[in-house]
Amino acid sequence: MKLKSFKNEPLTDFTKHSNLKKQKDALKKVRKQLGKTYELMIGGKKYRTENIFNSYNPSNKTEIVSSFYKGNAELVNLAVETAFKKFDEWKNVPAEERVKIIIKAAKLTRERKFEINAWMILEAGKNYVEADADTAEAIDFMEFYGREMLRYSGKQPITPVPGEKNELSYIPLGVGVVVPPWNFPFAILVGMSSAAIVSGNTVVLKPSSDTPMMGKVFYDIMKDAGLPDGVLNFLPGSGGEVGDNLVGHPKVRFISFTGSMEVGIHINELAAKVQPGQIWLKRVVAEMGGKDSIVVDSETNVDEAVQGVVASAFGYQGQKCSACSRAIVDKSIYNEFVSKLKAEVEKIQVGPAEENYRMGPVVSANAERGIVEYINIGKGEGRLITGGDKLPLDGYYLRPTVIADIDPMAKISQEEIFGPVLAVIKSSNFDESIKIANNTRYGLTGAVYTNNRKKLEKAKKELFIGNLYFNRKCTGALVGGHPFGGFNMSGTDSKAGGRDYLLLFLQAKLMSEKIKGKK
Ligand code: NAP
Ligand code: MG
Repeated sequence: MKLKSFKNEPLTDFTKHSNLKKQKDALKKVRKQLGKTYELMIGGKKYRTENIFNSYNPSNKTEIVSSFYKGNAELVNLAVETAFKKFDEWKNVPAEERVKIIIKAAKLTRERKFEINAWMILEAGKNYVEADADTAEAIDFMEFYGREMLRYSGKQPITPVPGEKNELSYIPLGVGVVVPPWNFPFAILVGMSSAAIVSGNTVVLKPSSDTPMMGKVFYDIMKDAGLPDGVLNFLPGSGGEVGDNLVGHPKVRFISFTGSMEVGIHINELAAKVQPGQIWLKRVVAEMGGKDSIVVDSETNVDEAVQGVVASAFGYQGQKCSACSRAIVDKSIYNEFVSKLKAEVEKIQVGPAEENYRMGPVVSANAERGIVEYINIGKGEGRLITGGDKLPLDGYYLRPTVIADIDPMAKISQEEIFGPVLAVIKSSNFDESIKIANNTRYGLTGAVYTNNRKKLEKAKKELFIGNLYFNRKCTGALVGGHPFGGFNMSGTDSKAGGRDYLLLFLQAKLMSEKIKGKK
């Protein structure tokens, strides 16, 4: 099997009227399907339970996007047992066959792009560009991991040993539990699931309760792409109940999680406990939160830095693990930076995702409550420059908020807020800026704006950050070009979309045969 070399999926140009129209038409079409109830899918069969939960449109908070039967302990067991049985077959399906399915799924996703974007706009509150980038990233993950699987299933280089014929091959692990977040509701869900599946594992997917529809869309695509029943099992339900039962199940071999630090730590602890009948240590890949900084040096173009900070801090309402939530600014340009920042942020208009405002709603009532709490703390910790309140609309709309003069150890400088709130910190010089940028428990993304090559090299050496950018924004990692993952409490640095990623779903088997007649 030969595939063309990997290329990132182009983003849709929404300044073109024809594309805008396609997106609006897809929204109309998807709107006609709102309010349906979907079953859990185990071994290709539909299951209903006593309880139902809803996914809502955060732009219009009483509008139900879809409803789902809620998984329970009994169905967790059935799903894991089904996946466990199916693994015996799926692991023996040649890698090329598995790759064909994933590449077909990428093609179907491309064909349904506007429709998938539409579901995401309605369920997660992304604007058109953000939704389109999310869908494109999902396509990239499938295309990239498909190619990676071909590489890992090929002949592996090992040192020859005289008198022996030796080979090393990568084999899958077993049943994986995939637990994605709601903030890249399609890309991360698809990336984690497709990597596990193409590597030969079987999966129980528990989507985020805020964006279960995106999981359903992926399930249907995989089915249409020809994935055999039971390889992917779809089990919506609460993190607490379904999540804990899945993670604790003795037949689960690995957990692939992306979400908050608190839940990641909890999963890691629970998975570490060996259950009766369990004959392996579970592998946990946990990608978690961030408290990402942009350092703005004295020797830089302030306007460019402001643009980068604004894009990184307020894209998708700041609800990205990679979002800039601290600008660390040299004192010699501090006042200029803050006043230019204020002017830029005040240009941002907030409104319904469906109407494609630059900023939409935050994802849920819960999210809104948490962010407002931090805004109130921040008002006490610093000087409110702009924003700081809600909009009187029928969704979870917050004004983009900037709070300056924040102490590096202040709460809003240390804790992940996950919303449109930016702390600005004054620093006396470049060295101090680097120290401040390293002063949290996280280490996910960050950027440095400077024209000074020496300072840039120093930052490269000293910043303990998994995805570090220079003179550009700190969001928008591309599959292949910017393998993604963070240090410390930002996670296990899995580097999603990179060459090391599939190894997390594989184990190496060494086979050594003595050649007859040789000593
Ligand atoms: P979250 O609250 O931790 O939830 C993530 C997932 O875990 C959801 O599917 C959730 O299900 C599930 N869950 C909750 N409790 C569980 C349990 N006890 N056992 C198993 N699963 C459980 O995070 P989120 O609010 O969805 O996402 C935002 C967070 O993700 C932020 O902290 C962000 O920084 C992080 N993130 C990190 C990366 C990265 O690559 N490092 C990328 C994106 C996002 P329910 O929805 O049912 O509760
Ligand atoms: Mg929702």
